[in-house]
Amino acid sequence: MNLAANLETLHQRIRTACGRAGRNPDSVTLLAVTKTQPPEVVQAAAALGLLLFGENKVQEAKAKIPLCPGNLRWHMIGHLQSNKCRDAVELFKMIQSVDSLSLAQEINKRAEQAARTMPVLLEVNVAGEASKFGYRPEQLLVELKELNALTRIEIHGLMTVPPWSAEAEKARPHFRRLRELKERAEAVLGAPLPHLSMGMSGDFEIAIEEGATMVRIGTELFGPRIKAGPRAEAD
Ligand SMILES: *Cc1c(COP(=O)(O)O)cnc(C)c1O
Repeated sequence: MNLAANLETLHQRIRTACGRAGRNPDSVTLLAVTKTQPPEVVQAAAALGLLLFGENKVQEAKAKIPLCPGNLRWHMIGHLQSNKCRDAVELFKMIQSVDSLSLAQEINKRAEQAARTMPVLLEVNVAGEASKFGYRPEQLLVELKELNALTRIEIHGLMTVPPWSAEAEKARPHFRRLRELKERAEAVLGAPLPHLSMGMSGDFEIAIEEGATMVRIGTELFGPRIKAGPRAEAD
């Protein structure tokens, strides 16, 4: 693996996709997904200037993060269980995988105990896949005001993992649906939501064309993972 070359290629592809969409490349943040990768790989990525990292399991993050440079920012991107919220609040700058009111309430409680506020994204199951975590769009709109009333949580936007497909273009309608849902959520809240976290190694260019502000990239940076499947997100 040549991390520096992978990163350069990735930046180039992000710039090109932004160019196609008439967007400023600064409007797209790269989140490096390091699940299954050892601290040495994180360190190498940090040495190349990457600052924002994602993990999908609290347990793995808890073991790894203390062994990594202290100036990095970490986001939780996998399904979060209530009994891991306390650790998650300690480890992460943002939780991108809030998918129920009860989970949000637990994060809120733990954040209060830690005397902080927690930025979150609401994860949406845009295609309604039975096997996947995430809000159904209608349920999200129903609970949105109650979520927003939690004082220790700041809703920064929406996140999704579309159904797996070998064809990136197949993800486009799902990304578009997430963008439209964000607009409806903004109307309910009467306030803008800055983030759309969507797009992974196989489909990030399509996601950028559809408005992604954060792309979550593992494989294209670090090569294939050792064990987990390409879309594994369970804790
Ligand atoms: C693993 C993972 C990614 C990165 O996937 P790649 O295809 O390796 O880029 C992005 N988002 C989530 C939620 C993940 O679990």
